[in-house]
Amino acid sequence: LSAHYQAEVTLPAESVCGHRFALMINAGLAVDPEHINNEICDGVGLYRTEFPFIIRNQFPTEQEQVILYRDMLSAYPGKPVIMRTLDVGGDKPLPYFAINEENPFLGWRGIRLTLDHPEIFLVQIRAMLKADISSNNLHILLPMISELSEVDESLRLIKQACFEVGDELGLELVRPKVGVMVEVPSIMYQLNELASKIDFCSIGTNDLTQYLLAVDRNNARVASLYDAMHPAVLRALNQMGQQLQALQLPTSVCGELAGEPAGVLLLAAMGYDSFSMNSSQLAKIKWLLRRVSLQELQLVLNDALNSESPKIVRRKVHGFLEQKN
Ligand code: PEP
Ligand code: MG
Repeated sequence: LSAHYQAEVTLPAESVCGHRFALMINAGLAVDPEHINNEICDGVGLYRTEFPFIIRNQFPTEQEQVILYRDMLSAYPGKPVIMRTLDVGGDKPLPYFAINEENPFLGWRGIRLTLDHPEIFLVQIRAMLKADISSNNLHILLPMISELSEVDESLRLIKQACFEVGDELGLELVRPKVGVMVEVPSIMYQLNELASKIDFCSIGTNDLTQYLLAVDRNNARVASLYDAMHPAVLRALNQMGQQLQALQLPTSVCGELAGEPAGVLLLAAMGYDSFSMNSSQLAKIKWLLRRVSLQELQLVLNDALNSESPKIVRRKVHGFLEQKN
């Protein structure tokens, strides 16, 4: 079957009704096959920069980070590489930076930690900017934003880093595109304001599901309650899809749902057209999107949105998928 998918991997991700999707890859945290062929994807939708931090025993220096980021940026010339600023805390502790909290997922993680330590943030942004000098395809993504002041503060620091690097290298630096992870429910209700401040957003269905359902994404005891196909999560994603389209804010979905056959079909029906996933999923997802029409997906979505439980949603979407395989 995998040969089956591979046969179409260099073709465009285009539905039978002619709708074109962007398929990008998530890089950094899982064990990635080096860099997947530039020809088969539309760029890197999420580079989880925490990985090189987690495997070391101290913070990587600015120069070490420049080398890492340059490798990634130059592997995808002419295509966007979306680098997320350090997203540690929660389930991703740094061995050399102790955080002891009762509720790590509601605590000091992602942007909260780096805005409290602007020296960590600034070194990372400076490294990204230096790495991007010749490739010019860097996009910066901010994790765990829960209020707008965090966006303002991050933009201020990014501007400062641009100024510092420009000064150091004697260049006039243009600020790269900056986006926000939509993964904390509060920000779903401030999309208007958000859209006026940033260039794009990326929906993190992993954390969004965890926070909408109040289910720890890594706790085996409640694992059966953790499901991004919960009708309430789907309704939230659907409403947000409509709003983001009206705002014309470029959006991609980078949580695991986008790399799941049943998930990506529902997201496509909601109007999302850019998906980022583990590279191992890309050929299969492309193959699938090339076999559906938005019209038929719309029916599946309506059925899913009006289902009572994640189990019923899954049964319905899988029924549809079986006809395609
Ligand atoms: C997410 O939360 O959906 C996401 C993509 O980020 P991470 O899994 O790294 O938290
Ligand atoms: Mg997340």
